[in-house]
Amino acid sequence: MGNAVTGLKRARAKVRAAYFVLCLSTLNFAAATAWAQVPGIIDTHGHIQNGGPRGTDFRGALDAAVHRMDQSGFSKSIIIPPPMATGTAGAFEMESYLFAKQAYAGRILPGGGGGSLNGIIQSTAPDAVTDDVRKAFRASAEKIAAAGAVVFGEIALHHLSLRIMGPRHPYEWTPPDHPLLMLLADIAAEKDIPLDLHMDLVAEDMSLPERPVFNPTNPAVLKANMAAFERLLAHNRKARIVWAHAGTDPLGTRIPQIQRELLTRNPNLYMSLRLGATAPPPFVALDSDKKLKPVWLALLSDFPDRFVIGTDFFHAPGAGAVRGPTEEALENYRTALSQMPPELAAAIAHGNAERIYRLGN
Ligand SMILES: [Zn+2]
Repeated sequence: MGNAVTGLKRARAKVRAAYFVLCLSTLNFAAATAWAQVPGIIDTHGHIQNGGPRGTDFRGALDAAVHRMDQSGFSKSIIIPPPMATGTAGAFEMESYLFAKQAYAGRILPGGGGGSLNGIIQSTAPDAVTDDVRKAFRASAEKIAAAGAVVFGEIALHHLSLRIMGPRHPYEWTPPDHPLLMLLADIAAEKDIPLDLHMDLVAEDMSLPERPVFNPTNPAVLKANMAAFERLLAHNRKARIVWAHAGTDPLGTRIPQIQRELLTRNPNLYMSLRLGATAPPPFVALDSDKKLKPVWLALLSDFPDRFVIGTDFFHAPGAGAVRGPTEEALENYRTALSQMPPELAAAIAHGNAERIYRLGN
């Protein structure tokens, strides 16, 4: 009897072990298949580090960018100036990026406006927009488009100053329905290139949450911007507007449900996924085990043609990041894409970016 029980136990243990091995190998197989199917990723939102000891060698930064792209499975990177005030020292604009397209065989693509148009918008009150201001702004934007920009960006509607980005990281705010933003949407539609916008979302006026991530330069009360953002979106439906940084939101307001509502109401709204951090709250897409949360996977699956990748990486020469997302975090994109159905992964990795930014092949 004892032997029979032991035998039975052993048999059960064997079955369990076999099942366990089967599960593991199925998982491995599934992971390997998904991995193989993760196509070359297009990063639609990268930057060049400006300032600091490693922040003046533009060519060196681009060489390092291509090396990082090879390491982490990126086929192309769109490099744009971050949203800066007019006259910021060391601001690389389109002029600096022009050679990059040629020199890097289409792997680095330039966007422009963050170092120029953004400053004009930030420093011009909506009621100070005269015909002359509009004319000068249009000329500036048209020059960027003519120089081969694949996107206007990065333009800030609301940009919180973050401790992790250093004390110079600016606080920027402008009404999303500013007449120059409306004009820029019109020019983007005319030129058939998208807009890349940074907007920390404030659905209704709110106090700045007390978190150590914020620099003291941020105001204590944040003004609502969601309704005006929708007015900008509705102003010209032919303007493709890419709202950067879905998936990691320092303010904690950009939850999947609100994004779902905005995507439903606004067919010209797109979003780029920044997956540099993992955390339990719903405004972060990856959980602490780097699993794409079900509510995020559902959002991506329901709007499969509206999401692209945008790392927000600040490229500097040599290894490692000077500020912003780490080099290790670049691996999160392959990891996340490998958890999506292959068709969705292909769309988010590159298909949507090729269409939205008209990149061709
Ligand atoms: Zn950025």
